[in-house]
Amino acid sequence: MTTVSVELTYLICGTCGCPHMIPTEIYETAEREGKFWTCPNGHSRGWSIDGAIEILEKKLARAVDAHHRAETHITEHMVRARLLERQLSAQKAATTKAKNKANRVEVER
Ligand SMILES: [Zn+2]
Repeated sequence: MTTVSVELTYLICGTCGCPHMIPTEIYETAEREGKFWTCPNGHSRGWSIDGAIEILEKKLARAVDAHHRAETHITEHMVRARLLERQLSAQKAATTKAKNKANRVEVER
């Protein structure tokens, strides 16, 4: 016996209100490529190719925005890291100077 699992997308027909489900792969392909399916009562549902292109353009714009935000975030962290490195280096130098001064005072006694 073979068990097959199919993810379904729940939909309601915008014409007759009939609830129905179609495989998610078919739904996403229709959205991506501008295709149609029919509700159980035969009403055509889906996207025109122009609608699909518009959806893809919006997804692309969101992805580009997210990429730019991530780049900005990374740049801010890199600037902060460089600042912290300089502060650490300055603190190490100050500590070394203080230790050397303390050693000189101890030797002079
Ligand atoms: Zn319908």
